[in-house]
Amino acid sequence: GEALLEVKNMITEFRTADGYLPAVRDVSFSLNKGETLCIVGESGCGKSITSLSIIGLLPSNGRIASGEIKYEGEAIQSHTAEQMRQIRGNQISMIFQEPMTALNPVLTIGYQLREPLIIHEKLSKKEAHKKGIDLLKSVGIPYPEKRMSQYPHELSGGMRQRVMIAIALSCNPGLLIADEPTTALDVTIQAQILDLINDLKQEYHMGVIMVTHDMGVVAEVADRVMVMYAGKKVEEGTVEEIFNHPKHPYTVGLLNSVPDVDKPDFELEAIPGSLPSLNQQIQGCRFHDRCKFAMETCKQQEPPAFDLSHSHSVSCWLEAEEVTNP
Ligand code: SF4
Ligand code: MG
Repeated sequence: GEALLEVKNMITEFRTADGYLPAVRDVSFSLNKGETLCIVGESGCGKSITSLSIIGLLPSNGRIASGEIKYEGEAIQSHTAEQMRQIRGNQISMIFQEPMTALNPVLTIGYQLREPLIIHEKLSKKEAHKKGIDLLKSVGIPYPEKRMSQYPHELSGGMRQRVMIAIALSCNPGLLIADEPTTALDVTIQAQILDLINDLKQEYHMGVIMVTHDMGVVAEVADRVMVMYAGKKVEEGTVEEIFNHPKHPYTVGLLNSVPDVDKPDFELEAIPGSLPSLNQQIQGCRFHDRCKFAMETCKQQEPPAFDLSHSHSVSCWLEAEEVTNP
């Protein structure tokens, strides 16, 4: 397919009392139209910062220090705030975990749907109202006319997330970034929202980046998966490669921490330990203090990415023949 988004050697850093520290370390990946890439890892691994870097919504103490972000062939990493606002209104949309914080509580659903259509699509108020109702229909909201005059607090969490998706779709985005969009919802509603995102991806032929810590969500929506640990990509592959042939011990740990309904007595293998902090100097593999396979080399040298197929790569010394079989 045709590359919609290309991220090359991106380093994103934050200004702290100890100077600038990297939260995303030399990350590269690409996304095609009509494809869903899941970025997975524990909270703090850099997955949200990666997506905020792409869409130009880093907090004020964050910056892209180096690397390239290309959207439909155009380099956007050095765009001004105003240029990024244009892109967010027209080409890239984002939805977040808690729609209550993204929706304005004192404005009606209708107002919040019409506004971007009037500004970006130059529709009249009447046209925007009609399109708003169509958008609510397309995300499966019953009684859309009535919803237009309601306020966010009058809707359930699942309905609010559908409204957020409707707003995100209003500009016909080529790329939808969803950061833990279902984490705050109960399991049934979660499944409905994931189905909705899958359906809309097909219908609009969008690229989707789904940021999640939940391998269950990955199984539902992903075409490809990128696993991040401590600011680095540690494994990338198709959803089949990641679920059937996971190679990085961290990926294996994430997969084993998915509860299995068929085996209620199965003991969950949590990953012991926690992510290193931003200012922690680590030599070698950044996972070595949590890894039960850590070898001497792992503590000395950071593993490079080893290619296992054209789509599957892993950064772990276990994949280096000359190290494991000296
Ligand atoms: Fe574990 Fe070594 Fe692989 Fe790192 S490089 S994940 S420490 S085996
Ligand atoms: Mg996050």
